[in-house]
Amino acid sequence: MEILETIEAARRWTASRRAVGRTIGFVPTMGYLHDGHLSLVRLARQQADVVVVSIFVNPTQFGPNEDLARYPRDFARDEALCRAEGVDAIFYPSPAMMYPPGYSTYVVEEALGNGLCGASRPGHFRGVTTVVAKLFNILQPDCGVFGEKDAQQLRIIRRMVRDLDIPVALIAGPIAREADGLAMSSRNALLSPENRAEAVWLSRALTAVQDAVTSGMLDRAGLIEIAQRILTNAPRGKIDYVTVVDDETLVPVERVERPALMALAVFFGPTRLIDNVRLLPPDHQSATSSTSST
Ligand code: AMP
Repeated sequence: MEILETIEAARRWTASRRAVGRTIGFVPTMGYLHDGHLSLVRLARQQADVVVVSIFVNPTQFGPNEDLARYPRDFARDEALCRAEGVDAIFYPSPAMMYPPGYSTYVVEEALGNGLCGASRPGHFRGVTTVVAKLFNILQPDCGVFGEKDAQQLRIIRRMVRDLDIPVALIAGPIAREADGLAMSSRNALLSPENRAEAVWLSRALTAVQDAVTSGMLDRAGLIEIAQRILTNAPRGKIDYVTVVDDETLVPVERVERPALMALAVFFGPTRLIDNVRLLPPDHQSATSSTSST
């Protein structure tokens, strides 16, 4: 497994693979890898001949009062996990290499990033689209794999790829969960034992809402009320948002008449957890596949 620490080395390595006819699958991450990331590596492996994982805690997607400094990092552990998973190369650039002095160019998607996480994290998605566009330009992968865990991010990246004609196929992987249902996240490591115990209620709220939709309850207000009621079991958590939005446009919906998402974000102390579930109205429920490609 190659560890590529410079943009030059990464370009040279991917060019050498392409020159011998290999296709390249790419999984961008911020490291502190867990099984959710590794499930995306496995998807990339199914789609492409070689797999590159990037590990980069991207400073431009963190606000001034967010957890950039506290974000968990352990490159040695990530390296071992990637090696065990058969990853071919890790791209591990420094912030100074990605954003040299005088850096002043950003990529902004203007329709999908304003609500949900974008409302409470101004500038976050500008950082995400910028770094993902840079990573695509550096590595020029055939496919990029992203998790449904970050549903808004995935939709914004799809839109960016479409709008900017970036020649990459996007693959979406389902949300990997802990045994008790908590969505895997590098930030889970930051939770105190008490907060970790309460965090289980996020996925329970989503499951209850999904069950309600299956049994025909389709109204926004009723669904949000179910989620909020269940989240009262987690009194240490402060709700940032709980909402139902259209699965494609991310616009809030009054009734689940097309595929929708229930998405939520909850703070436990300074640590903000997100989760979501797809809601299919009863007449769509045969199309339940959660892995999709675009
Ligand atoms: P991160 O390291 O948190 O920036 O995430 C890197 C990629 O892994 C993103 O595409 C995330 O959506 C994805 N990811 C994070 N957590 C999960 C999870 N629990 N299940 C599936 N994908 C995930």
